[in-house]
Amino acid sequence: MLNIIIAGPPGSGKGTQAKLMVEAFGFIHLSTGDMLRREIELGSPLGKEVESILARGDLVSDQIVISLISNNVNAHPRARGFLFDGFPRTLAQAQALDAFLEKTGHPLRMMILLDVDDSVCETRLLRRATLENRPDDTDALRVRHRLATYHSQTVPIIEHYKKQGKFVSVDSSKNPEYTFNQVSEWLKPIL
Ligand code: AMP
Repeated sequence: MLNIIIAGPPGSGKGTQAKLMVEAFGFIHLSTGDMLRREIELGSPLGKEVESILARGDLVSDQIVISLISNNVNAHPRARGFLFDGFPRTLAQAQALDAFLEKTGHPLRMMILLDVDDSVCETRLLRRATLENRPDDTDALRVRHRLATYHSQTVPIIEHYKKQGKFVSVDSSKNPEYTFNQVSEWLKPIL
């Protein structure tokens, strides 16, 4: 079993790369953003609790996403590997994921960072707002807030996985195929 994190700022192309990785390599894709949006669509108690947090572009509590992830991992006992997308987003989440995967006997293998400048992300997110009706992408202030949250809360995870020798980075400033070629070069030798 191969457990991988795909990480990067909002607008770096995580969702697109995750889709390509699932098609090519058969990972089970676990996106906390997708799970939370599904709860909101369903109108569940959790969805009601997190709706305004997502709309503001803030992070929901570590406890909520950690339990979503552990429930989903446990629901796929025969998975070939998990692709964590949009999780972990804080150091506490990374530590919880490490501990949880250690217990399953399949520790995290690699964190792949999609590296791209904030200005490119901003342009992409504002374009996505008109295409996908994502309320957290709809104005420049909110987009900048999400990017700032990424830098303050999520960037520290890079150092955490560098220390473990699990961190790699690819250039995600061009087109999805260009990024995916680099991602594949990292994955092929370990698959
Ligand atoms: P995403 O689709 O990954 O960009 O996530 C959309 C939104 O869901 C984020 O802006 C957060 O409000 C929330 N979210 C997703 N994943 C997490 C996470 N791991 N920790 C906290 N909040 C999250």
